[in-house]
Amino acid sequence: MEQTFIMIKPDGVQRGLVSEIMGRFEKKGFFMKGLKLQSVERSFAEKHYADLSSKPFFSGLVDYIISGPVVAMIWEGKNVVTTCRKIIGATNPSDAAPGTIRGDFAVEIGRNVVHGSDSVESARKEIALWFPEAPINFESSIHSWIYE
Ligand code: UDP
Ligand code: MG
Repeated sequence: MEQTFIMIKPDGVQRGLVSEIMGRFEKKGFFMKGLKLQSVERSFAEKHYADLSSKPFFSGLVDYIISGPVVAMIWEGKNVVTTCRKIIGATNPSDAAPGTIRGDFAVEIGRNVVHGSDSVESARKEIALWFPEAPINFESSIHSWIYE
């Protein structure tokens, strides 16, 4: 089954939005397969955002991600990568539709509370970076109430 990497950024943690954000993926019918509160170092944040290293906002972005603990998660389900991006909403909260996480809880692009992998390939890389330990394999007892 497809997996994605979701991170609640330091502003989401500090603002007490953790359960609200997790609840959106949980209530949708996706399954949490990894979860940890973590403070990351500059070099780790730079690795996570390596694809953006040439962008003018890169150092500010790294400062933001290391400004406090983040909640790192693996979520699993059918089309989970694309669907979680839709649940999260547009990168710039000004463009994010009401009902999306960024549309409901964020104002500035540099304080947009949550990260979600943008493709199955990035998800694979990000999960390997953030969760090098052995995966936890289990099937939820409500699986057949969500999946045909
Ligand atoms: N970002 C920013 N300024 C920009 C574009 C992006 O501060 O002009 C930040 C923003 O927090 C965004 C992150 O960099 O979430 C990663 O950018 P990306 O284009 O990958 O957006 P995302 O995949 O998070 O929607
Ligand atoms: Mg991205």
